[in-house]
This record gives sequence, structure tokens and C-alpha cells, in this order.
Amino acid sequence: MLYLTGTPIGNKDDLSPRAMEVLGNVDLIACEDTRRTGLLLSSFGIKNKLVSYHEHNKASKGAQLIEKMLQGADIALVSDAGMPCINDPGEDLVRECISNGIEVTVIPGPVAAITALCISGLPAATFHYEGFLPSEGGPRKKRIEKLRTIDETIILYEAPHRLCKLIKELDEAGFGGCRAAFCRELTKKFEQVIRLSIRDSVSYFEETPPKGEFVVVLEPLGEDNDPAAMTDDDIDAAILRLHEEGLSTKQIASKIAGLSGNGKKEMYARVINLIK
Ligand code: SAM
Repeated sequence: MLYLTGTPIGNKDDLSPRAMEVLGNVDLIACEDTRRTGLLLSSFGIKNKLVSYHEHNKASKGAQLIEKMLQGADIALVSDAGMPCINDPGEDLVRECISNGIEVTVIPGPVAAITALCISGLPAATFHYEGFLPSEGGPRKKRIEKLRTIDETIILYEAPHRLCKLIKELDEAGFGGCRAAFCRELTKKFEQVIRLSIRDSVSYFEETPPKGEFVVVLEPLGEDNDPAAMTDDDIDAAILRLHEEGLSTKQIASKIAGLSGNGKKEMYARVINLIK
């Protein structure tokens, strides 16, 4: 049997009594990082056999784990933090179990996305979980374009060294006026929630470089923060920022036209006028 087991996202005391019992009693624990899981277990006095199961060995290791479970072994799957399967390995193993007739159960624990959504203050009734955007290029642009069409609270994961890039991209994609909650180090000593518009967060994080783990909870584009509702001042500020970033007149005009809903020709003339 497979026990999908949630572990803390920061505060070790969030490990549930049921998770402790399972982790102490299964035949084997499959985990992303045996050292990290070993430390968590030893802090609760739990001893058990650990094997690594991660993104890069999941095909070969997965087959071995399935074989063991078919022979009757009980295996717990944990990730480094939070729930397996949520931006972490696990879903392949669950599918394999299902297709091999192996029973799967779950011992739920914290998920960074849901924890952040609850504390964000943004509407939580319906939401879009995005997780990490693709790291670069076309696929990343495509997903950001897709986010413009979402009409419910959006949840993103991002590494601290890439947070400023993400915020700038969201600003350029028209999310400048949208509210956001930057949920940092949740459940840990330095837990902090920074609630700012995307536009204001650009300067905030330039002055206060992001440190620690972040979930970004983002208000969707709506009528109130529709890019078409950009004021003349917003447009001029965006032009000057893109100019400072070294974009050509043509590139700036095309971006601003997309953001504001104005024509490219009109925006080209405006850029020339402003930066000449
Ligand atoms: N499986 C995990 C879950 O259930 O939330 C997600 C793992 S994903 C690889 C790691 C990302 O989750 C981090 O880069 C960060 O965006 C987010 N995260 C994890 N723990 C966090 C915390 N304590 N505070 C804020 N964000 C966190």
C-alpha cells in the first residue's frame, strides 16, 4: 500500500500524529532527500528505512517501489516539504499504483499554496493554482499570457532570486494594478505577508531584496485593473521604465500597446515624444 504523507512546510510541529505513526510503521519511506527527511524523523525519535525518490530517478526508482508494494510492502512517500504531488514528485507513482491495483491512501498535511491563499486576504472561494512558471522563453511568456485570462485568485510559487523578474513580467503583462500578497517563510520564525499592488512591489523588492521561500497570491485582471484602464501617467511610467531597461523604441511601443489596449502607431509617437 502507498501512504502519501504530508510533512511540514517549515514548522516541524506541523507533522501530524497520524503522519508520525505511519512514518514509524511502514516498511520503507521514499523521500526526495534522505538527509532532510532523516533529520525530520530523528527530531521525533522515528527510525525507519529511507530511499531516495526524486524528479531525476523517479522512472527507475518508481518501478522498484511498485515491485515492492506488489510483494506486500507498505511504503510512505514524502517530499522535502508539504504534500507530495504538489509541485513535487508523486503523481506518477500514484498513477502506477492505481494501474497496478495497489491501494493508495493519504495522510494530508500543509500545502504552501493553500496556506498562503488563506492568509492572503484575497478571495479564496475559487482560485487558480499555477505553481512555478516555466523558467524561460516562449513557454514562460505563453503561461503569463494565459494568466491574463484567469478570472480567479492566482497562486504562484517562485524562488527568491527570481521574484523581482516575475513581478516585472507581471507588471508588463498588465497586472500592475492588481493586489498581491507575497507570503514569505510561512509557518517559520520570520513568517511575513507583504500586501502590495504588483506595481508597488517592483520598487519594494528592489529596495528589500527577497529572502526565503515565497508564494505569490495574485488578484486576477478584472474590470478595475484592466490594462485598458491604464492612465496616461501609468503609460508614461511604463515607457520610461522599459526605456531604462534598454528596450528599443519599437519594442516599447509594441509592449505598451499590448498593455494599454492602444494602437501601436499611437504608442510609437508617444514613446518618441517622451524619450527624445
Ligand atoms: N509540495 C510543496 C507544497 O505542498 O506546498 C511545494 C514544494 S515546491 C518544490 C517549493 C515551493 O513551495 C517554494 O519554492 C515556495 O514557493 C513554496 N514554499 C514551500 N514552503 C514554503 C514556506 N514555508 N513559505 C512560503 N513558500 C513556501
